[in-house]
Amino acid sequence: MDNATLSGVRRLLAEKGLRPHKGLGQNFLVDKNILQKITTAAECTKNDVVLEIGAGLGALTLCLADLAGQVVAVEIDKKLIPILQKVFESRSNIALISGDILALDWEKEIFGFLKSPRDKIIICANLPYYITSPVIFKILEHRNRIRQAVLMVQREVAARLLAVPGSRDYGLITVNVNRMAEVEMIARVSRNCFYPSPEVDSAVIRLSPRSRSPVMVENEEVFAELVKAAFQARRKTMLNVLVSRNMADRDKAMEVLLSLGVDPNRRGETLSIEDFAQIANRLS
Ligand code: SAM
Repeated sequence: MDNATLSGVRRLLAEKGLRPHKGLGQNFLVDKNILQKITTAAECTKNDVVLEIGAGLGALTLCLADLAGQVVAVEIDKKLIPILQKVFESRSNIALISGDILALDWEKEIFGFLKSPRDKIIICANLPYYITSPVIFKILEHRNRIRQAVLMVQREVAARLLAVPGSRDYGLITVNVNRMAEVEMIARVSRNCFYPSPEVDSAVIRLSPRSRSPVMVENEEVFAELVKAAFQARRKTMLNVLVSRNMADRDKAMEVLLSLGVDPNRRGETLSIEDFAQIANRLS
């Protein structure tokens, strides 16, 4: 049985009388070239524990199990569990967890597979797109236990994560993610690489949590408020953002921006993460 080809996936589902569950984001990868790009980018060795989010029919899981020491595969759809148990039958290094990745206790159920508290897992996922943001925030929350995450996401999400200041795609998520992780584009993926084809194209990205943030933020709350305010009012000047949000009076706002060499008429959407951090530090 080949669970990584269009005919194999169709046959497997038909044999079990199943249809892809749209609500669970079931778009199965049927392109071996892309599977290989994901596993290469994951850089896993026999010493590594790899978490796969959304095992589906097990195509990516099997590739990962060939390379990693241990694979922890999580799948929410109970109808797929018996199929996966059969597919993984002869693989002793795959642990299958039937459940919702967002509801699991990661510390116990996932990091418990690591040998030492200093070890880190690798994450690989052809993500169900409806949970992209919460999964990314889980990854950032647990970043000190994660070496890297190779994720299939919608092309437009990849564009937002990789956007530069001043561009249309640059926003809150760009700043918040890039502060804590390095983001790289691994591959652009056509919608035709999936069964069924989703309505959008995709991309594989790699998130590598930073051991140290590139910018020093003195007060997280002020930084968060500033960045949120700047992107909620993208067309306002930075001076107006600070004043209208009562983050500073006009004189103080002018003084802070000018002292940092930031033109008070610049829009917040053109500022770099370093600019935001410096302004927040002066305000806090
Ligand atoms: N890994 C397979 C592949 O590449 O062909 C399947 C990928 S498919 C895009 C996403 C998978 O995630 C589906 O099997 C879906 O049932 C599962 N899934 C959806 N929501 C989930 C959740 N909250 N927790 C765990 N798995 C989930």
